[in-house]
Order: sequence, then structure tokens, then C-alpha cells
Amino acid sequence: MIDPFGRKITYLRVSVTDRCNLRCSYCMAEHMEFLPRQELLSLEELDRVCSAFVARGVRKLRITGGEPLVRRGVMTLFRSLGRHLEKGTLDELTLTTNGTQLAKYAGDLAACGVERVNVSLDTLNAGRFAALTRGGRLQEVLEGVAAAKAAGLAVKINAVALKGVNEGEIDDLIIWCGERGLDLTLIETMPLGEIEGDRTDHYLPLSELRARLERRWTLTDLPMTTGGPARYVAIAETGRRLGFITPMTHNFCEGCNRVRLTCTGTLYMCLGQDDAADLRTPLRASEGDEALLTAIDAAIARKPKGHDFIIDPATKRPAVERHMSVTGG
Ligand code: SAM
Ligand code: SF4
Repeated sequence: MIDPFGRKITYLRVSVTDRCNLRCSYCMAEHMEFLPRQELLSLEELDRVCSAFVARGVRKLRITGGEPLVRRGVMTLFRSLGRHLEKGTLDELTLTTNGTQLAKYAGDLAACGVERVNVSLDTLNAGRFAALTRGGRLQEVLEGVAAAKAAGLAVKINAVALKGVNEGEIDDLIIWCGERGLDLTLIETMPLGEIEGDRTDHYLPLSELRARLERRWTLTDLPMTTGGPARYVAIAETGRRLGFITPMTHNFCEGCNRVRLTCTGTLYMCLGQDDAADLRTPLRASEGDEALLTAIDAAIARKPKGHDFIIDPATKRPAVERHMSVTGG
């Protein structure tokens, strides 16, 4: 699949549920209304859409959410998608998770062919973790990370950098990751979806954070790019990689190789734009995949060139109304 700007689309991110067992304050409102279950694609339907994308040339699938590991029966989906890895038609099957269920599932994930997981962890302080996630238990995530490592999975930690919340803890996260052989990626907050409170209060430009980190750590730019918004440096002192995801301050759209599917079968061609394609209707219209493949082709043909995230200073409203838990992180 090649979009109108000559970009090869090889990466699909799939949200399998909008639900979550945590309520991270930058991601969700405290009292979220979730979608009625009948709106969701079934696990079989998710497998069909993912497989259609693989047939169209997608080489990497990332399962996300909401919290993907709270979707009932989700391992059935991982198991069936694993067949594409075995056949060699897919290079990577991976997931982004809050880690709370990893102690239970790490072994099964590895058995399905998953080799790497991204675990979101913003703080190593149990009290702060409970406050930020509105009730989460840090210990569960720590046990999940240990279980993933024991199962042979490579773990990358994702931390959202929040002004006045965890900004003083980034050195500790670097050390903690270094000791465990984990890479770390720092994420700037993005204005997605209505939440309580003022997001601009916690917005921390990563350029500022990087300058601060460079006083203590020797950071060397790495040439690697993943077609996404992350830029990587090597940390000489720990030997690990550090990533910076800066959707607000850098334009990363020229190399974009990805599209995102929501749990209701809506395809977003760009995280920062509202244009979307309904894949559920063609999916349910017939048992064959012809209509679905036609809808996918039509959607890729209108992938926009790029986006411009803003938090409107007058209204303080986000640029994009849907939550990250809907589109998938
Ligand atoms: N529940 C899983 C998790 O937390 O990893 C997967 C879904 S979550 C929406 C994916 C990622 O999006 C997480 O790393 C989370 O920190 C990040 N995220 C959520 N809301 C965000 C926001 N407003 N700005 C930046 N990152 C956000
Ligand atoms: Fe749940 Fe992930 Fe959102 Fe936190 S960031 S509330 S863990 S979906």
C-alpha cells in the first residue's frame, strides 16, 4: 500500500478495547463512559481486518487499547495472528500495555510469537503511581515487567513526561531501566480528548527535558528511525537507548508508515486528523474480504499529508476530540 505522498504503509496499530483497569489522568476522565459491547468488533472480526491488512502488505501489527490485556479472550486473537509470523507474511506482532496483566500473560504472549512489549510506566513511586492512574498498584506493573523479561520478551518502557508530576524522576527511570536492560521512551503529552483539568499545566517540552538530562548523561543521537514520531539517543552511562516522542514540537509526518484501527472498526489514517474510514460495514457486509479490501485501499488513498496538534489557548480545548484510548496509543 502506497499513499498519495509515496509513503509505504506497513504498520497497523489496532485498539482492541476502549476499556481499561486504570484511569491515567492525562488519558482518561475519572468517570469514562465506555462503548457498548455490541459496538466492538468481535475477536474474529479483528482477526479478519488485521489479516486483510497483512494481505495488503502490513508487516507490523501493534495491539493496543484501552488496555489490550483486559479484553476477554484477547489471547485467542494473539494466537490466531501468530500464524502470519509463522508464514513469514508478518515481521512483528507486538503490544502496548500498562503491564498490570503481564504477570499472567507474558508466557502466552511469547508462545504466540510476540518478542517485544511496550510497557507504560510513568513513575516508580507507588503513591504517585496510584494518584496518576487513580488507584493503580505499582507492584503489579513491576511484577509484570519481571515476568515479561523472564519469558524472554524485550521490554521497552514508555513514560509520559509531565511537568510538576514525574519530571524530577526521569533520572531514576533511566537508572532503573539501565539496571534491567530496558530501553526507555519519553512521550510529550498530546491534546487528545477531553479530560478534567488543564492539560497545558502539565505540558513539558521534551527539548527542555533533554537539555536538562544532558547535564548528567552523555546522549548521542542515533540515526535509526521507525517511521514514527520517536527519535533515539544512546545513553553512554547505561548502554541503553532513550527515545523522545515529540508530536507537538517536531514534524514527523514525512516518514509516516502507519494507520490506526479502533475497536469499532474505524480506520484513522492520521492520529492528528479526524478523517476516518468505516471498515466495520464492509467487514459485516459479506463473508468474503473483497469489500473490506476495497475500503482499505480507498482509505489509504486519502491518507493526509500531516497534522498540526494544538491546544487552543483561548478555549483550552484539544485539537482532536477523541481520547487516546479510542484511537490506541
Ligand atoms: N493501556 C495501554 C498503555 O497504557 O500502555 C495501551 C494504551 S495507552 C492509550 C498507549 C500510550 O498512550 C501509553 O503509553 C500512554 O501513556 C499514552 N498516552 C495516553 N494518553 C496520552 C496523551 N494525552 N498524551 C501522550 N500520551 C498519551
Ligand atoms: Fe489505561 Fe493506558 Fe490510558 Fe492509562 S494510558 S488509562 S493504562 S489506556
